[in-house]
Amino acid sequence: MPPQWGIVLEATCPCCNSEMRPQGDVVEGHMHYCGSCMGILASDRWLNSNMRQTNLRNLRKSVFDGQPAGYRCPTCQGEMVKGLVTTAQRDSIEVDGCLKCGSLWFDNKEIEPFIPDIREKASLPDDANPILPAISGGMTIAKSVISGLFDAVGSLSGRIDGDSEE
Ligand SMILES: [Zn+2]
Ligand SMILES: [Zn+2]
Repeated sequence: MPPQWGIVLEATCPCCNSEMRPQGDVVEGHMHYCGSCMGILASDRWLNSNMRQTNLRNLRKSVFDGQPAGYRCPTCQGEMVKGLVTTAQRDSIEVDGCLKCGSLWFDNKEIEPFIPDIREKASLPDDANPILPAISGGMTIAKSVISGLFDAVGSLSGRIDGDSEE
């Protein structure tokens, strides 16, 4: 076993250039979480420990069949490629992966469809950060829930207005 085995360095977020601290352990593998843009760089080992094998296989297939992503892996400097992955909810998500070490990069919350309990698994902070960029798969879901709520409220208040005018 080489002496450095198990030592995981900080990495720079490919999205916003923030420093990302490693989380995880030697047994389960490591992942890097960006506290600024909430992106996640998950190592091959971590993915094997935390993601269902069927999910992971589909994910890898789509990503590693993809095109050059135009940047280097934050942890090993390998070439990153990107591919579109379809989730169980039929959303298309772009995921990047490193050809050398097999790490996968997920933008803001895009890992959630694949690992719904990612927050507990990785002990991430609760989602209460208002300064997030508004572009993400997660926001789309939130928006559709909110617009559904507005529709319900709208039809209610429409009824009330109608009553009061009579
Ligand atoms: Zn970032
Ligand atoms: Zn790599």
